[in-house]
Amino acid sequence: MAEPRIGGDMTAAERVLDRADELASHSDLPDGIERVYLSPQHRAANDLAARWMREAGLVAWEDAAGNQCGRRAGAGDQLPAVLLGSHLDTVPGAGRYDGILGVLVAIEVAARLRDAELPFALEVVAFGDEEGTRFGTTLLGSRALAGTWQPEWGGLTDADGIRLADAATAFGLDPARFGDAARTPEELLAYLEVHIEQGPRLEDADRALGVVTAIAAAERRVITYTGESRHCATPWDLRHDALLGASEAILAIERVARAHGSYATVGRIHVEPDAVNVIPGVAAFSLDLRDETATGRDSTWERILHELEAIAVQRGLDLDVSSTHLAPEVVCAPELRAAFASGIAATNDRGSDEPMELFSVAGHDAMAVAAVAPVGMLFVRCRGGISHHADESVRADDVALAIDALEAAVLQLAAEYQPS
Ligand SMILES: [Zn+2]
Repeated sequence: MAEPRIGGDMTAAERVLDRADELASHSDLPDGIERVYLSPQHRAANDLAARWMREAGLVAWEDAAGNQCGRRAGAGDQLPAVLLGSHLDTVPGAGRYDGILGVLVAIEVAARLRDAELPFALEVVAFGDEEGTRFGTTLLGSRALAGTWQPEWGGLTDADGIRLADAATAFGLDPARFGDAARTPEELLAYLEVHIEQGPRLEDADRALGVVTAIAAAERRVITYTGESRHCATPWDLRHDALLGASEAILAIERVARAHGSYATVGRIHVEPDAVNVIPGVAAFSLDLRDETATGRDSTWERILHELEAIAVQRGLDLDVSSTHLAPEVVCAPELRAAFASGIAATNDRGSDEPMELFSVAGHDAMAVAAVAPVGMLFVRCRGGISHHADESVRADDVALAIDALEAAVLQLAAEYQPS
């Protein structure tokens, strides 16, 4: 059995950072990074990833949904695989590392394990869509791999009215065959994803790496207060101002969610009639609510709803609430958490004998892949917790540790592996 190579390989880390820079140059924004699904920039990113996969000793191919894949040459076709990866697409105005880091670290680990004897196949995947920037629906690449692709998604359109099916054809794919990207549970032993934290908890704790326990449960709602649109000469006592109700509600949401340790965001508000001299008769706003567990999320929501109803009564407003998205938490597999914990311990970094555990507030490809394989995630510290922004930044020595930890985690799985 191969021994993990510990000690912080700065050459490999610098190569990862250089490759992230090279990928960043494939952007459809003149001043900033944007790389979306089935675009010419996606093509360029896949071509680069394919080249790096081949250099790492992998056989590279693009799957039926445009995900760039690689598999260790020489592994028998019949062997199930441990899959490493993340995504290459970005939001508009993105940084260089969200998703990209996980793909590049996976390729480095595949290169290191090129000649190692492993009891399973080793694969790397670079998903084409996680962010949902172009077609408004997230995780399209990973859901295709997980076998949960919905044929009607071919009809999704982008901001220019281009249908996903037509974009796929232009990309060189057959939109009728996206389902062929599906992998089976028999083919995949595990999915391991390295990702920047996109939050400040590791940095606050002065840790380079952390083991992800779960990906947050989320719910999105639209909350609508309806009152009366009246002339702005209406006395205070006769007003039923929907926007004042919404304003009070948004502050109540912050207070309740903070008190319960949940994450709540009101990012969109719509007012009618939207005129300077008319009391708003309708105010509708979005709520994105996340918590480590669905139980925690739901109990926070119960308290929020109580406050929303009290505001409606007090202000003489009607309240309407609808749910637009509901997702349970995705729990990382205990054996993969343990593998990452021992991977971190193997780095001998400060505090690595007691690796920090944290849940992910953001969604990730692992949520989709969990439909077909056990998933595990390793977080890497990012400066200031900044993400989805040009200032996204990682330290080269942290990247070196992440490569060591992922390699050690794979070797740990190999040592424990018992073919069924
Ligand atoms: Zn990401």
